[in-house]
Amino acid sequence: MSLAPNVYDAEPIPDAARAEIDRLLASGDLFRYTAPSDAPVALLEAEFAELMGAKYALAVASCSAALFLSLKALDLPRDSKVLIPAFTFAAVPSSVVHADCVPVLVDVTANYRIDMQDFKAKLTQDVGAVIISHMRGHTSDMDAIMTLCEAQNIPVIEDAAHSLGTLWHGKKIGTIGKIGCFSFQSYKMLNAGEGGIMITNDPEIAARAVIMSGAYEHNWKKHKTPRGENSSELADAFARWQNKLPLYNTRLSNLSAAIIRPQLPELTRRVTDGLRNHDYVAGLLNQSPWLDVPPPLEPETRAPDSIQFNLVGFSDEETIAFQLAAKKRGVSVQVFGLSEDNARAFWNWQFIPDQGPLPQTRDMLMRACDTRLPVRLKRPELEFIAAALVDGAADVKDAAKTSAA
Ligand SMILES: *Cc1c(COP(=O)(O)O)cnc(C)c1O
Repeated sequence: MSLAPNVYDAEPIPDAARAEIDRLLASGDLFRYTAPSDAPVALLEAEFAELMGAKYALAVASCSAALFLSLKALDLPRDSKVLIPAFTFAAVPSSVVHADCVPVLVDVTANYRIDMQDFKAKLTQDVGAVIISHMRGHTSDMDAIMTLCEAQNIPVIEDAAHSLGTLWHGKKIGTIGKIGCFSFQSYKMLNAGEGGIMITNDPEIAARAVIMSGAYEHNWKKHKTPRGENSSELADAFARWQNKLPLYNTRLSNLSAAIIRPQLPELTRRVTDGLRNHDYVAGLLNQSPWLDVPPPLEPETRAPDSIQFNLVGFSDEETIAFQLAAKKRGVSVQVFGLSEDNARAFWNWQFIPDQGPLPQTRDMLMRACDTRLPVRLKRPELEFIAAALVDGAADVKDAAKTSAA
């Protein structure tokens, strides 16, 4: 019998990181603003901006910090409404609360994407900004979202924490809205343990976010633009905001940047492997009458490192029995709405105003299953996982048939 694959370990960090980390340890040069120029964090920003085709990038302590700074950089009036999907991670409504804004949850459908009817209804004139959280890398209908938001001049922030490498009509996710935010936490495509980065083409937003992230005094001069020049529109914006903004000191350390930079060239391979693995397992799961992997939207090319699927025709009891059956076969399944205090179930976000029933999202959260699928897995491991899920579902449904007979 083959052993259950380890789905928790990340890929090793490329060896190239070691020499740079040794250099940093030897010199003690860990703070991004000590060196006069070209600190690892500044180089990471330049390389990431180049990779994404964005003008400006700001590396910070987490994607949550990037979302928070994005809202602050937009200079929204206190208590502005910010639309977010009802299916996301608790860090997203938290970032809205930190920014003194009020999150408004938009219903999500069985395919994990924003319900456009509910979005349209909630996109009223008093909405200050929209955060599109591409949860688990599932892209909502960005064409419809951008058309509606542009018509009302409402800025869109993309929470692309889990979408690095995803394309929409061939365009990189995170570059469609005004600001894109990404995570370097260990469960994401680039792993530094912790970290985040935001990108934008807007010099005003870039300058405000850089200062508030902790570029005190004239440290903003150490920020590079993609081609290494200090563009004058950025310098003008810095001059305008000098000494006018609070500092939140949520910077990234040089050590984290040194761990991320050698992973950038790995990204294309990770995305290709992740998508191939995902689609292979999805094909196997969809052969079961009890499991359904929703297809991507037509313009979307995904970059997954986990798989989500819905149980078809299962009661709550059967859903719990399925989790146990899969576990017995060696594979852990998370059902977002069924585990106690799950951070992705909106009813546990008791730090925001109650949002009413959101029935579609609730139904989805009670039947949607989540299984990790690290991009390094090989065919036999993928087949092991798929078999555990398909057979686990059959175990439950066969038992139901026998007891009914
Ligand atoms: C991981 C994640 C976050 C939070 O990222 P951190 O870097 O841990 O703050 C936010 N949104 C989504 C969709 C995520 O997957």
